[in-house]
Amino acid sequence: MSDCIFCKIANHEMDSDIVYEDGKVIAFRDLEPQAPVHILIVPKEHIATTLDLTEKDNELIGHIYQVASEIAEEEDIAEDGFRVVNNCNESGGQTVFHLHFHLLGGRNLQWPPG
Ligand code: 5GP
Ligand code: ZN
Repeated sequence: MSDCIFCKIANHEMDSDIVYEDGKVIAFRDLEPQAPVHILIVPKEHIATTLDLTEKDNELIGHIYQVASEIAEEEDIAEDGFRVVNNCNESGGQTVFHLHFHLLGGRNLQWPPG
């Protein structure tokens, strides 16, 4: 999608601090980090929200979780613990309508979230 910021980042048309990339996903540091480690893991394909996923995406979602664990190891937050979050639609806190997963760690994360 031409006016989508995460499509632009995925296509390298917009700068970001990329920590991981392969044919299917890209991961980069959040512009406004909410934790010492705050990385967004994003499928390169434009999928607006979790509600737009179909069975064909099952492998992609599994892959995203594998990448999240790999990055957590790389960032040295795996052993202490981390969180993977997907916000869906307005009440879920979604502000960018290109599917993404927040990888958060490096401090004690509160539960339940606000
Ligand atoms: P959401 O609220 O949709 O779950 O998360 C969107 C996230 O994208 C927010 O944490 C926000 O800080 C981040 N974000 C928005 N625009 C940009 C950008 O241009 N670059 C980067 N790296 N992060 C962004
Ligand atoms: Zn997009």
